[in-house]
Amino acid sequence: MSEKQIVVIPGDGIGEEITAAAVCILKKAAGKSGIQLHVERHLAGGAAIDAYGLPLPDSTIQAAKRADAILLGAVGGPKWDGVAPEIRAEKAILGLRKELGLYANLRPIRVAKALIEFSPLKPEAISGVDILLVRELNGGIYYGAKNEAAVVNGVEQASDLEIYSTPEVERIVKLACQAAQLRRKQVVSVDKANVLASSRLWRKTAQETAAQYRDVTLSHLYVDNCAMQLILAPKQFDVIVTNNLFGDILSDEAAVLTGSIGMLPSASLGDGTGLYEPIHGSAPDIAGKGLANPVGTILSAAMLLRYSLGAEEAAAAIEKAVDQVLVQGYRTADLYKPGSTKVSTEEITSLIEKQL
Ligand code: ATP
Ligand code: MG
Repeated sequence: MSEKQIVVIPGDGIGEEITAAAVCILKKAAGKSGIQLHVERHLAGGAAIDAYGLPLPDSTIQAAKRADAILLGAVGGPKWDGVAPEIRAEKAILGLRKELGLYANLRPIRVAKALIEFSPLKPEAISGVDILLVRELNGGIYYGAKNEAAVVNGVEQASDLEIYSTPEVERIVKLACQAAQLRRKQVVSVDKANVLASSRLWRKTAQETAAQYRDVTLSHLYVDNCAMQLILAPKQFDVIVTNNLFGDILSDEAAVLTGSIGMLPSASLGDGTGLYEPIHGSAPDIAGKGLANPVGTILSAAMLLRYSLGAEEAAAAIEKAVDQVLVQGYRTADLYKPGSTKVSTEEITSLIEKQL
């Protein structure tokens, strides 16, 4: 048995319920793969504002840095909407990303067979879609110099600067290629190299970097074409890698194709400990009622096993168990069925027991 340290940050709202469900499944799957997990709970977001007066206490940062991986529920909620901007609950996530040097956001876009009816696409278009979207998280136009609106030569104008350096592009493309090696080995790099200088550097660097991965095929798409292809023929994609701005937009577009936001996981990876969380928020309207869909967090735990603990078999077993439980009809209210967090979790756990 190897031993690994996991920091769990439940956060706020439904965070407590969904992380409890996911930890239970994570422990089971890891144990079956010969990994013993030590789980430490830490506060962030609104819960930390209540306890310490700030959203990301130093004790949480230090524990996160020491851990092998972090599982997070969700932070924020109306209770803390009135706090000062510098201590907003959402700052906890931004702070963790910065402290841990997490420069890549990974979002798998997969639709469980049983949920194809929820997609806005036709069944034949969405069935079998399995995309991994890799978004650069630390650079680009969101971080470049900003000139707020000001009057110049009699007209008001404003600007945002987009800068990417070769090392920034190299590291994200490397990560995308490595992720592709665990999948179908095809990377599409998305840019706007016909009009943007930063995109031309991106494309050249992507080409040079991917050449080091002989088993991986790289191709390029302009972002406008990619946005269209995601709707018209999403099955063509394996891994998509793109910059911060394009990734922000394309990841929401791709997520909505699945029709069920409560189901989708994410990973933030980089220099330090990997951070795993569902893409939905803290859903304060249903918190504490045992109604939350735990699947987004459970699939985040599967990503944690795959990318931070190298336990591919355990990760795949969780994903398969989730698919089967949905086929059996165990669902929560977000999928128009009066189910519960507890029943979904117990069914998934018992299937993992059988598989591994
Ligand atoms: P944030 O700003 O934190 O992203 P949000 O306002 O965008 O939050 P969510 O918290 O994601 O929204 O919730 C949006 C709606 O989806 C709510 O009605 C919520 O109950 C529902 N919802 C979100 N996650 C889940 C889940 N895991 N299970 C069931 N319903 C959910
Ligand atoms: Mg939201």
